[in-house]
Amino acid sequence: MPYPYKKMTEQDFDYIRSVTDSARVWVGDEIANEYHKDEMPEYGIYPPELYVEVENKEEISKIMAYAYEKNIPVVCRGAGTGLAGGATCKYGGILLSIMRMNKIFPVDHKNQTITVEPGAILIDVQAAAAAEGLFYPPDPGEKTASIGGNIITNAGGMKAVRYGLTRDFVRCIEAVMPDGSIMEFSSNVVKNTTGYDVKDLIIGSEGTLCILTKATLKLLPSPTCSCTVVLPFNSVEECADMVPEVLALPFVPTAIEFLERELVEIVERNLRKMFPVKQGEAALIVMYDASSKDELNSAVEALAESSLKHGALDCFLADTPERAASVWAVRAAILEGMKAESVSQEECDVVVPRAKIAEYVKAAKKIASSHGIRVQPCGHCGDGNIHTEMLRSAEMSDEEWKNATHASLTELYALAKQLGGQLSGEHGIGNGRIEFLEKFVGERMIRLYKAIKLAFDDRLILNPGKVIEFQPKELQP
Ligand SMILES: Cc1cc2nc3c(=O)[nH]c(=O)nc-3n(C[C@H](O)[C@H](O)[C@H](O)COP(=O)(O)OP(=O)(O)OC[C@H]3O[C@@H](n4cnc5c(N)ncnc54)[C@H](O)[C@@H]3O)c2cc1C
Repeated sequence: MPYPYKKMTEQDFDYIRSVTDSARVWVGDEIANEYHKDEMPEYGIYPPELYVEVENKEEISKIMAYAYEKNIPVVCRGAGTGLAGGATCKYGGILLSIMRMNKIFPVDHKNQTITVEPGAILIDVQAAAAAEGLFYPPDPGEKTASIGGNIITNAGGMKAVRYGLTRDFVRCIEAVMPDGSIMEFSSNVVKNTTGYDVKDLIIGSEGTLCILTKATLKLLPSPTCSCTVVLPFNSVEECADMVPEVLALPFVPTAIEFLERELVEIVERNLRKMFPVKQGEAALIVMYDASSKDELNSAVEALAESSLKHGALDCFLADTPERAASVWAVRAAILEGMKAESVSQEECDVVVPRAKIAEYVKAAKKIASSHGIRVQPCGHCGDGNIHTEMLRSAEMSDEEWKNATHASLTELYALAKQLGGQLSGEHGIGNGRIEFLEKFVGERMIRLYKAIKLAFDDRLILNPGKVIEFQPKELQP
């Protein structure tokens, strides 16, 4: 533990109740088990001492000011769909849910923006924009995540190939700092070179710097039509080889994903969602958005011609909403399917330059297999963010699984670095990847990270032990 945190007492519980509402505060065994973990219990199960559902920034401010004074750790929680072990109370203390703060304010048409509270659900934000003829493009796989969680993890997702990441759509944010002060970062302007870009530092900070309480998001005009194309190939390596060919065409794809046949079958077997294409050992899924049918047809024709020349076994057009939905439903269910199929999972979330995708995929399969692990590379191959999913079979002992995944991850991160990639493309460091970070980014970078953390949170009370870990000797209590 980096710091001798205060163990919470009845007096502390009473204070939190007094500034919120006792009906929104739970302590000790009253706290449901789901709040002990996120979507990756493998990265730690930690019961909070107190769980509170806040309703506004003033409540958060009072809680933070108190925690700051008393030295109590606080972890902010969105929908708990994170895949890094981020929204958990590693050192006890308060778990603060912002999910009741879910207002979506009316679309600002003149600025083409929408302002939201952090507990608004991604799918509701997308729908609110669509209802006004506009489009919020970031599209991470988990649509029930909170928009605040998306911002604070800089969520990526399928459409990053064309539109970019959540960060690219955040105009400004409001946040409560660890000492309880309330601050605004940037404003509803298109550009800003006023001082350091602290807003962009907070985006992706995984709840370690401040608590996000409001954000204004950029919107785009909606595309008028779109089409999903499934290209079956004889191997996942051939799919990866096809990616640069797709990117070289004169149309920017919205999404490029890939799936191996085995993974499709896992989803079909366990979740009864049927993939419409049966051929091949792997499939590349390509989506185009366009503003006219002619543009869309030209993009799809160019893709069909190129892919058939490069070994695609077919070119299946999912050109109705129902067909497209059947393709994307299988893609979206991968994690759930893997959970149903295996005792537990580990995931490597590296991102590599797009020119290196095929090389990474080929080597990654060899690495994991050499350690006796069943592996499924899949995911966002259009942006080089390959999720290398490792599945634990029932026969593997705890020790065998731990050693094999550790050895595989060590080699996979070294491989990603050698190929010019990064350790995490979108899921972040949290608690799950912390032990690999220093080796990857180096000691000087870790010192920089620590200086940034201390500039925001000098008492290390906000989500301690995530992203970076301080040693007791580094701090004066
Ligand atoms: C099936 C599935 C598919 C997924 N697909 C994708 C994908 O395509 N791309 C992608 O990037 N991610 C994906 N994820 C991961 C996850 O959905 C994202 O990381 C999401 O952004 C987390 O949001 P959340 O509300 O669940 O946050 P939580 O899990 O509750 O929290 C995540 C982190 O953010 C912090 N936090 C949350 N809200 C706030 C706030 N208001 N202020 C300060 N800190 C806060 C927490 O402390 C924690 O560290 C997927 C997850 C699942 C289960």
